[in-house]
Amino acid sequence: MGLAHSDQVQPESSGDPETGTRTVRRDANARAQRVSCDICVVGSGAAGISAALEAARLGRKVVLVDGMATLGGQAVNSIIGTFCGLYSNGTHGYQFTHGVVDDMFASLGAIDKALFYRHGPVTTVVYYDEVALGRWVERSVLEAGITVILGAVMRDVRRNGRRVEALELATRYGDVIVEATGFVDATGDAALAWQAGFACRESARAPVYGTQMVVVENIDEANHPGREEMAARMEEKGDAYGLVRRNAVSFVIPGRGIAALNMTHTETPLEPLAASRSALEGKEQADRAVKFLMEQFPACFGRARIRAYGAPGIRQTRWIVGRHQLTLDEVRSGVRHPDAIGRTAWPVELHDTGSGYVWQTFGEDHVHYVPLGSLVPEEGDNVVAAGRCIDADLAALSSVRVMGPCMAMGAAAAHALDLAGSGSVHQIDIAALQARVSDNIDRQDAPWRA
Ligand SMILES: Cc1cc2nc3c(=O)[nH]c(=O)nc-3n(C[C@H](O)[C@H](O)[C@H](O)COP(=O)(O)OP(=O)(O)OC[C@H]3O[C@@H](n4cnc5c(N)ncnc54)[C@H](O)[C@@H]3O)c2cc1C
Repeated sequence: MGLAHSDQVQPESSGDPETGTRTVRRDANARAQRVSCDICVVGSGAAGISAALEAARLGRKVVLVDGMATLGGQAVNSIIGTFCGLYSNGTHGYQFTHGVVDDMFASLGAIDKALFYRHGPVTTVVYYDEVALGRWVERSVLEAGITVILGAVMRDVRRNGRRVEALELATRYGDVIVEATGFVDATGDAALAWQAGFACRESARAPVYGTQMVVVENIDEANHPGREEMAARMEEKGDAYGLVRRNAVSFVIPGRGIAALNMTHTETPLEPLAASRSALEGKEQADRAVKFLMEQFPACFGRARIRAYGAPGIRQTRWIVGRHQLTLDEVRSGVRHPDAIGRTAWPVELHDTGSGYVWQTFGEDHVHYVPLGSLVPEEGDNVVAAGRCIDADLAALSSVRVMGPCMAMGAAAAHALDLAGSGSVHQIDIAALQARVSDNIDRQDAPWRA
């Protein structure tokens, strides 16, 4: 990898042996550090990690960039707590997405209480320990030889016609320029596509709300209230506690004496001051929700203590204008697009009102697909989006933005760019791509229980 170190520090003295110090001054002519690679992935959440690991397996030189100081995106830092959309519906579902997901499950499964499969009435969801997940991400990225640039946000995106050539990043330690043949926009907010000047979409209606997740410890698992009982109490007492949301979710992480609370609805604007304010208000809302639980369900939560607040949880903000916009009709009918690259059966889960959300489940045999056309910005040749910023209508996106399909999209993005090389992702051989990701669109293992 071409890594040119810029000399940003000018020593003014060779050092004083008595104090062990020397005087330095920033070089006023310092240039940004330059890094070049085959595939640059921006965003290290479920989609970005999957893309980066898959691209590294393909032998590509990979640079992984994230604005946060830690890897793992929302899966790790917002303490989401469960992998959804990975299994077909019913209690006997089969796994939809493989590859990196299989490796992740094998590693976490070997750690005591790091994974728990809940075969619920709608589908199977997989609870995970976010600390173990975070370490798996870090170790996997290191072992794969991926160059990581953390705490790095895009200042500018250099474009030549339909190709993105380089990203200009600002970090607390200085500027970095990343040049790459292909780019994955796994930022969740289509930040790369936006900075490149590509057309993007956002909600033209009410905002889609995010959530401040909270983990509480010291609870009594055996006395955890049922979902309906909690919803009824929130309806009755919510105003008294200043709760915004009503049909909220508290889920016990089995065997660990903790619960993850998904009980708030906060706006997630893309304007810096408003976003910062909303993050602080989210915690106020979360505190009120914890007070409500402690007082209204003392048998379970009476001695609860807040152990951790996640980073602000963001659902749907801004996404690309792709070659194809996935629609609710396509999701409902389960149409398999000719360029399908991933699948799920997760319900429509649209958080578009302060007090609640739309929840529409599908039948046991239902499967819906994500096409490559929804991942590729119409106006770019070497950019592929993955995760919660692909092109879909509001309701369709609410169903495919969960982590199972996000990981399938990440894998497909890596393969699409690998196949495109220095050409266009719009002209790759779709049959070749589908052959590479066939486990994520065709494989159907034996059910969990006979
Ligand atoms: C409260 C909440 C609960 C949820 N519950 C579940 C659940 O139980 N199960 C489930 O499967 N899904 C759940 N979801 C959905 C799911 O968590 C997300 O949609 C999914 O994690 C998105 O993954 P991603 O990789 O697309 O993006 P993210 O995880 O959001 O990652 C994007 C990354 O890009 C980085 N980034 C953004 N902008 C820039 C920039 N300009 N420069 C550099 N880096 C940047 C961010 O720092 C971040 O790390 C939930 C979502 C929320 C908000």
